[in-house]
Amino acid sequence: MPCEHMDELEPVPPGTLGCVECLRSGTPWVHLRLCLTCGHVGCCDSSPGRHATKHFHRTTHPVIASFEPGERWAWCYIDQAELEVPEQFAMYLR
Ligand SMILES: [Zn+2]
Ligand SMILES: [Zn+2]
Ligand SMILES: [Zn+2]
Repeated sequence: MPCEHMDELEPVPPGTLGCVECLRSGTPWVHLRLCLTCGHVGCCDSSPGRHATKHFHRTTHPVIASFEPGERWAWCYIDQAELEVPEQFAMYLR
């Protein structure tokens, strides 16, 4: 089953350049992920905060993309599948 969640999304600019929750608490992160539903920037599961995954559990926003320089991939939490980043979203990545 291909992911249908990406089709419902409109590109939203990132709200911050770092993990919102980590910036607030002064916690370091490892990698950044961008929520493609609302522009929330959170940290990856290798980071102490795991805020991207926590954001999904709080909001059920299904698709994130890597917010690391030069990386172009997305992940759907619901389908547990890696996705290509459509061009209109790639302009907001680093
Ligand atoms: Zn999906
Ligand atoms: Zn974080
Ligand atoms: Zn979101």
